[in-house]
Amino acid sequence: MKLSRKSFVKSAALLAGATLLNSEKTEAKINNVLAQLNNDFMLMPLGYSFDALEPFIDKQTMEIHYTKHHNAYVTKLNEAKAKITSWKFKNIEDVLGNLNAVPNDLKAAVRNNAGGHYNHTLFWSLLKTNTQPSEKTLKAIGENFENLENFKQQFSKAAMGTFGSGWVWLIRQDGKLKIVSTPNQDNPLMKGIVKDLGTPIIALDVWEHAYYLKYQNKRADYVAAFWSVLNWDKVGELLG
Ligand code: MN
Repeated sequence: MKLSRKSFVKSAALLAGATLLNSEKTEAKINNVLAQLNNDFMLMPLGYSFDALEPFIDKQTMEIHYTKHHNAYVTKLNEAKAKITSWKFKNIEDVLGNLNAVPNDLKAAVRNNAGGHYNHTLFWSLLKTNTQPSEKTLKAIGENFENLENFKQQFSKAAMGTFGSGWVWLIRQDGKLKIVSTPNQDNPLMKGIVKDLGTPIIALDVWEHAYYLKYQNKRADYVAAFWSVLNWDKVGELLG
């Protein structure tokens, strides 16, 4: 069932009282309920405050990155989805794995914005201060990259070598761990589009919008700081 925004807001107003609707939070909640009713993609809560990663990633960057950049990917993905009458993807992974099923005129919009939504959702979950890799994680990294230091070096080198805007990934591919990079908002789930396919384990956003306010052109400093906020608990969970 599709419920129009107007009718929903009207009933909500009757229930909650007109004064509540003046609050931005109530408005956001109503928009979320509407999104759920329409089966739209949603910007999920970060799970921590914008300043939680200071001083490594600053509050202002986090706030703009999440509320403006990520939010725009979600909005534009839903706009594209609304134009595709044959839309029958189950979830975001299903979209990314089947981009060739998207009508040609909307393929670029879905590729960029579904990628942007997935990549950022994963990225936020991979950020937390003061975590350490488990023994199991260290063993998996050791088997594929000799040791943690060597892995960090190789990953950082890939981050520095990514030209322009893009992402650096640790993926699992055919049972092995591999470092790859993708341009723009592409990712290793994009079958038929990206060469190196695999299951994402670590993602690092190397778009300038991810670091320019604090680090300006010094991407190396941002990449170095990333190791202080990488959520090793989440990495362990994704490694399984
Ligand atoms: Mn970004």
